Amino acid sequence: MKQIAILGSTGSIGTQALDVISQHPDHFAAHTLTAGSNAKLLVQQALQFKPDTVVIADEGQYDFVRDALAHLPIKVFCGSEALCQVVANAEIDIVLTAMVGFAGLRPTVSAIRAGKAIALANKETLVVAGSLICQLCAEHRVPLLPVDSEHAAIFQCINGEGRNEIRRILLTASGGPFRHFTAEQLNDVTPAQALQHPNWKMGAKITIDSATMLNKGFEMIEAHWLYGVKPENIEVVIHPESVIHSAVEFADTAVMAQLGTPDMRLPIQYAFSYPERLPLASEPLDLFRLGTLHFERPDMQRFPCLALAYEAIGRGGNVPCMLNAAGEVTNLAFRQGRISFPRMAQVIQQVMEQASFLPTPSLDDLFSTDAACRRMAEALL
Ligand code: NDP
Repeated sequence: MKQIAILGSTGSIGTQALDVISQHPDHFAAHTLTAGSNAKLLVQQALQFKPDTVVIADEGQYDFVRDALAHLPIKVFCGSEALCQVVANAEIDIVLTAMVGFAGLRPTVSAIRAGKAIALANKETLVVAGSLICQLCAEHRVPLLPVDSEHAAIFQCINGEGRNEIRRILLTASGGPFRHFTAEQLNDVTPAQALQHPNWKMGAKITIDSATMLNKGFEMIEAHWLYGVKPENIEVVIHPESVIHSAVEFADTAVMAQLGTPDMRLPIQYAFSYPERLPLASEPLDLFRLGTLHFERPDMQRFPCLALAYEAIGRGGNVPCMLNAAGEVTNLAFRQGRISFPRMAQVIQQVMEQASFLPTPSLDDLFSTDAACRRMAEALL
């Protein structure tokens, strides 16, 4: 029985992780559940899964959660500091980082320092601090189990390959809802349109990042850190059906791919059950119904956020942190109707040009870079 802490249990990944846990009560238990401010859903989840501990980050919701669970032996905490403390509980085996954004970095670092296996959904952690996170994981002998579907696919493709070098990663991307939009059409797209992802139902932030392809840029950086492959050997392939979740090419040109219907519960479950595979109540792949699969090159002129991500990892240091911070500010501003769709990339680019470069940032430096770039992006809006 694996005891699992879910950071962000009320979100898209968090709720699907609880579905996986409920399908396998003999294998997994929800030890700790945490939310940002959705106290009502957190309480519902706690009543159903009876975890040891819950944390609500929003301190104003603490009384509601504590009172609703007072009749149960569940520990209730609040605040962002509590998130970092609860992950160190000796009973926890795996911490699923399903919080959104830079806020996931600190609790992930705490979980690694406490020696917990990390099921990594919060890609921003690796984008911002990939080098430091990899060092910390090596130091504490902590496995980073990918939850992102592309990275989980790559992980499955290299299973059993030992020291065979990866020559190229083919990182697939749906292309988002605006794949065929012209630059002029992109000027006028609305948040409501951008929130309609063709294949995946995800949280709002990642859905907008998918529409701009910043998400694919983040995933390229994530793949670089997870698998030690140079960015120039990670090729983004637009594949609108989202059936091939990614592929790996080896020295002899053999390409291994992982296929399946788009369902995030599979990578979540595999991160929990690895190296075992367990049954999953999900729709099996029907190639006959699909008939044809399509592939295109990404257009970095219309989707400059992808080019900015290659530039950020190429420059290194704290530049990916600048990319992420400006990305979070512009993503929210677009959702609030404050800026246009193309303006997001322009502001990110300006922040990456103007912020101070640090070649080997410490964790504290990254927190300063994040704060400075958020202020800069807000001013540029
Ligand atoms: P959601 O927005 O659906 O959920 C985010 C979760 O984090 C919620 O539980 C939310 O709580 C919590 N949260 C948000 N801000 C804070 C905070 N400051 N402190 C504590 N908790 C907070 O996001 P997703 O589930 O879509 O994404 C989560 C992560 O997984 C992201 O990093 C994303 O990139 C990654 N990912 C997501 C995929 C998907 O299919 N959704 C696929 C691959 C990766 P509350 O509900 O109270 O706001």
